[in-house]
Amino acid sequence: MQLAKHKRIRDRKAIQAARKNYCEYCGAYADIEPHHVFTVGAGGGDVSYNLVQLCTRCHIGVHAGKIEREELLAIIAKREGMTEEETYRMNRRAMGYNV
Ligand SMILES: [Zn+2]
Ligand SMILES: [Zn+2]
Repeated sequence: MQLAKHKRIRDRKAIQAARKNYCEYCGAYADIEPHHVFTVGAGGGDVSYNLVQLCTRCHIGVHAGKIEREELLAIIAKREGMTEEETYRMNRRAMGYNV
């Protein structure tokens, strides 16, 4: 038997730690789970630099392609004290890419 390649355990603690009661994009009240900038399906991690708190409205906007990933990475970079480039690379590395 082979283990599923993308089987992963979600890090609830990291998700809870990244949770805020306001949207990091627009500042509105937020009560949903933080958004994964690099989706879990694509291998994105439950790590602070891949999570951004959004309100329901912005969350829908992101998934509808109205808010660019780069904008979210910029918000995270600022919060984490990293450059956007570093934030991008950290995420790609966490996903197993050699960058
Ligand atoms: Zn918002
Ligand atoms: Zn999302």
